[in-house]
Amino acid sequence: ISRSPFLNYTKTIEDENLALLYLRRDIQIPIILNAQDRDDEGYHEGKVANTRFGSFPHSTLIGVRWGSQIRASTVDTGSRGRGKRNQKRKLEDEAQDSDVTKVPVRADSGFAHLIPPTPENWTTSLPHRTQVVYTHDSSYILQRLRARPGTIIIEAGAGSGSFTHAACRAVYGHGGKVLSFEFHQPRYEKLQAELQAHKLDDLVELRHRDVCQDGFEGSDHKANAVFLDLPAPWLALKHLTRPGPLARDKAVRICTFSPCIEQVQRTVGDMRNLGWVDIEMVEITARRFEVRRDRVGHQEEGLKGVNSNAASVDEAVSRLAEIQKRMIHGDDEERVTKQCRLAKIKEAQTGRKLHIEGYLTHRSEIEAKLHTSYLVFAILPMEWSEDDEVKAQNQVIPDP
Ligand code: SAM
Repeated sequence: ISRSPFLNYTKTIEDENLALLYLRRDIQIPIILNAQDRDDEGYHEGKVANTRFGSFPHSTLIGVRWGSQIRASTVDTGSRGRGKRNQKRKLEDEAQDSDVTKVPVRADSGFAHLIPPTPENWTTSLPHRTQVVYTHDSSYILQRLRARPGTIIIEAGAGSGSFTHAACRAVYGHGGKVLSFEFHQPRYEKLQAELQAHKLDDLVELRHRDVCQDGFEGSDHKANAVFLDLPAPWLALKHLTRPGPLARDKAVRICTFSPCIEQVQRTVGDMRNLGWVDIEMVEITARRFEVRRDRVGHQEEGLKGVNSNAASVDEAVSRLAEIQKRMIHGDDEERVTKQCRLAKIKEAQTGRKLHIEGYLTHRSEIEAKLHTSYLVFAILPMEWSEDDEVKAQNQVIPDP
């Protein structure tokens, strides 16, 4: 079982693990829990996450169930500062018998929720050192690469590690590995430290390497999937060879991720020359749809308004039909009128006013905001030598 909180879900939050402090949908703060930290003034609430919604000492977070709502504590580490002593707080702490889990909570303080890390929330909360691959792309890429437990995937460049985390979850189990490459020294070091902190370092082999110049060698594992997020992926293609870093006995699937069509053209040309087949380019455009049911306005209040000046119920009903017709911009006039007429009959029968549900409508964003990159997919078929053919011919197929 993996030690990583990304792969092994525990019920409660454990010390020294990564967790996300969820303040709002758009504010999630990753924290590595450390309840043992004591400062030089003798406070011992562990590290403290200071947020706009208050302070959250790590000692108040350990052992609670994932998803719990946590109240901010009164610990004011901001004003306490180093060397400055908040005597009142200190005395209160001492009065609490020095129990690190007993940090007093103010009734009117803010709150946060603690949620377990996933590749999705890590992608939206990670420290950006480069452009990153977002979930709508990485999920599509990984399924097209047929990444699954046991897959050995090559990834270059690793950048901020967004795709690395998604790949880890996809290939984890049955000996799956991520063979990752990054040539920028500080990024390589930062990602290495992160992978250790996230306990993913046994799943990811990260190498500091210029793959365009020096290739992908160095691992005992042979890859059957490749993802290249590089400015010039065509320069790296020639290193994806057999013998070499690719599995000989399996088809290898590749995806390259390039923002410009010129990069795609060069990549596709070189793929053809190197024997890759089934080459295809895909662009993912994420577009937000707002789906809702438009009401006719036949709720109590709405009906009053319509009725107030109407000479009769018939007139009110025809006005409602008119309103709904305008709202749906369609030529379903007949259907709307029928719907209102039926409602009128029902009202007469029951003596109760009815809600008339409108049609389901949707509005989409006019512009898709997320042009990220073009994805080029291709396959390098399994190697098949004359020897393989002879062996296959001589193979005795057992009689069923
Ligand atoms: N896929 C990453 C993610 O999801 O966080 C982002 C990758 S970023 C756009 C591209 C990375 O490729 C950069 O960190 C860059 O340093 C690295 N890179 C560029 N050329 C490289 C090369 N020849 N060898 C290795 N890494 C390279």
